[in-house]
Amino acid sequence: SKPILEVKGLKKHFAAKSGWFQPPAFVQAVNGINLTVYEGETLSIVGESGCGKSTTGRCLLRLLEPSAGEVWFRGTDLMTLTGKEMRQMRSQLQIVFQDPFATLNPKRTIQSILEEPLIAQQVAGSKRAELIEETVRIVGLNPSHLQRYPHQFSGGQRQRIGIARALMLRPQLIVADEPVSALDVSIQSQILNLLQDLQEQFGMTYIFISHDLGVVEHISDRVAVMYLGEIVELASKKELFQKPLHPYTQALISAIPISDPDEKRERILLQGDLPSPANPPKGCRFHPRCHARMEICRTQEPKETMVDGQMVKCHLY
Ligand code: SF4
Ligand code: MG
Repeated sequence: SKPILEVKGLKKHFAAKSGWFQPPAFVQAVNGINLTVYEGETLSIVGESGCGKSTTGRCLLRLLEPSAGEVWFRGTDLMTLTGKEMRQMRSQLQIVFQDPFATLNPKRTIQSILEEPLIAQQVAGSKRAELIEETVRIVGLNPSHLQRYPHQFSGGQRQRIGIARALMLRPQLIVADEPVSALDVSIQSQILNLLQDLQEQFGMTYIFISHDLGVVEHISDRVAVMYLGEIVELASKKELFQKPLHPYTQALISAIPISDPDEKRERILLQGDLPSPANPPKGCRFHPRCHARMEICRTQEPKETMVDGQMVKCHLY
C-alpha cells in the first residue's frame, strides 16, 4: 500500500503563561515526530492525556500551526500551502472531535451544520440537499430529523452528526480525536463499527487518537505510542500487543484488564506522574518512571531503532 501522509520532524513548541517574575515556560508539546501513514489503514496514536497526541492531530491538518516539520500529503507538503490552498485541501483532510456537542453550533439545524462544508467548497446548491440526505443515511440517522438542533440528539447520535460533517466532502483522510471517549461503552462499539464500515465503503485512511488501549486494539492496523511529545514505539497492532518492546508500552499493556481468568499477567506499575512537557526529563524522557532504566538513560536520549520492523526508542535495543 502507498503512503498517503508522511510526517517528518513535526514539532509544536509554545510559550506557556507563568508567574510575572518567571521567564515563560517553553512547552514542548510535540517534539519531533516522524510517521508514515498508508492508504486505507487505521493508524492509532495512543498515550496518556497530556502526551501531545491531540496537538499532533491538529498540527497534521494545520488546525494548529506546527513550529517545525514537514507533512507530506500525496506529494504536497501541507506546511508550504497558503491559507487559501490549505482550505481547499481540507476537503480531503477532515477531523472528528471527542465532544461533538462542543463543536456543533447549538443554534443551527443539522441541515445547516452539514451544509456548511459544502458551501465552503462551493458545491452547487442543487447537489447539496441530495448529498446531505445520502450522508445522513450512511451514518445511520433519519433524514426527517434534519431540521432538529444538536441538543435534540443523544450523545451517540451527535457523534454520528460529527462523523457526517467530516464525511460530507468524501475526504481521503480523517483524524479521529478520541471519538468515543465521551460515550457510554454500549454506544462506543456502535460508533467504532460505523467508522469501520465507512472505511470499507469509502477506502478512507484514519489517524485514530485515543488514550484507551481497548479501543485501539479494536480498531487499529498499526499503533504509535506517544510519551511526552514523542513516539516511543510504532508497530502493527498484533506485534504491539503481543510483544511490546518499550517499557512504557509494556506498562500500558500490563494495565489492561484481563478477561480470561486463566491468563496471568504481571502488572508493571508506572512510577510517579507524567512530568510537565515544559520541563521534560533529560536523557530518555521516560527514565524517571521506567522499571528498566539504566545509567545511560539519565543522560543520553535514545534514538529511533528498528527491531524486526517495529520502531522503538529505547536504549535496551
Ligand atoms: Fe527505560 Fe532507558 Fe529505555 Fe528509557 S531508554 S525506556 S529509561 S530503558
Ligand atoms: Mg486529547
